[in-house]
Amino acid sequence: MVEELNPFKIAQEQLDRAAQVMNLDKAAHQILREPRRTLVVNMPVRMRGGKVQTFTGFRVQYNDARGPTKGGIRYHPAESLDTVKALAAWMTWKCSLANIPFGGGKGGIICDPKKMDDTELESLSRAYIRAIGTYIGDDRDIPAPDVYTTPQIMAWMMDEYANIIRHNQFGVITGKPVEVWGSEGRTDSTAMGAMFVMREAAKLLKIDLKKAKIAVQGFGNAGMYAYTLSKKMFGSKVVAISDSKGGIYDPDGLDIEKLEDARKRTGSVDAYRGKNAKKITNEQLLALDVDILIPAAIENQVRKDNAGKVEAKLLLELANGPVTPEADQILHENGVLDMPDFLVNSGGVIGSYFEWAQNLTQTYWKTPEFYAKLDEIITKSFKDTVQTRKDYTGKGKKITPRTAAYIIAVDRVAKAMKARGWY
Ligand code: NAD
Repeated sequence: MVEELNPFKIAQEQLDRAAQVMNLDKAAHQILREPRRTLVVNMPVRMRGGKVQTFTGFRVQYNDARGPTKGGIRYHPAESLDTVKALAAWMTWKCSLANIPFGGGKGGIICDPKKMDDTELESLSRAYIRAIGTYIGDDRDIPAPDVYTTPQIMAWMMDEYANIIRHNQFGVITGKPVEVWGSEGRTDSTAMGAMFVMREAAKLLKIDLKKAKIAVQGFGNAGMYAYTLSKKMFGSKVVAISDSKGGIYDPDGLDIEKLEDARKRTGSVDAYRGKNAKKITNEQLLALDVDILIPAAIENQVRKDNAGKVEAKLLLELANGPVTPEADQILHENGVLDMPDFLVNSGGVIGSYFEWAQNLTQTYWKTPEFYAKLDEIITKSFKDTVQTRKDYTGKGKKITPRTAAYIIAVDRVAKAMKARGWY
């Protein structure tokens, strides 16, 4: 049978698995299997040559029982409603696991930003905010950047929203430039959060991070900072890194200047030059004999067909959805500790929460305070997950860290819905 790779079906399957283990109330389960609100908008935009092109966009507000919905906006030619629904569901669990006062949401526009200039991107971004403006706000739904959207795009969106409501409301969008009250520390907060999780997981597995070998798939915002921070914070050796074109492996460890040089020359890290360096494919990277594997690129990378080849002791899902449910089970049976995406990459939304809280209170923090608060929240999420897994194992139910994290997150949302009288 072909493995199911529709992200929304995967998200539902993960929920079903947790619901069964935790004996979730049937009505709560039914509510949580579907988004509460799904918005599809079509936006005519005048392009540079004068022609009008119509773009389709989505905004999904999955669940707001615990607070305003929160989640990024993606610009991608292959964007689909099912992907946005899945990501909105995962945002719900991510915010709940971190115990921050948000529900989950997500947005996206079908477009190819690489083929658009800044004027066209600005027009499209403003059109999107006009289309969804009635449904967002700092106490309703708070967007942020995601795949191919930037702080500049967030600034245009925030400005368009101010035009609509006729006053500034900086907290309506996070991931803004600091000049318009974005937060110090937000840029690398996703990878920084993953580093705190890596520190705690390494303690659990008795991995000495100073001697650890790490492979990172992806050299974008998430992967690049995971690379630099693991070297800077722990002195770990990153021996492999990749991008969409391919990867590079050097047993002596990779050098940031040479990586950037390769990217400048050819557009890919696989042109890296080093005495013992050799080119590898993305598939080979996943199967390297390393201590820690960090998929930080795209979804469905570790699947039923290659999960058995993973040699790492610890897998940190920095990307969203890099491990399929069947692969999850295989990793678990093979003794690989696979820490789920909605824990590992929650530093991004925790950082967004800090930005929103600063905007609302009009008080601004310095980076060390931001990192210390991030450490406290994400380390607590990690410990809660490990403890829940232990508790269930004690009851004779062997569960994965993902299911344990789901149980915590779903339970909090279900209890909030119950208290509000939704079921
Ligand atoms: P990005 O666009 O900056 O970088 C993506 C990287 O993945 C690039 O190096 C690209 O070349 C590589 N890539 C693309 N297709 C690939 C393929 N088929 N095989 C191998 N590599 C491939 O994106 P990002 O912001 O770094 O996000 C990466 C992942 O992390 C996504 O799943 C995203 O949802 C998740 N994430 C990011 C953040 C954040 O703050 N940046 C927050 C939460 C989750």
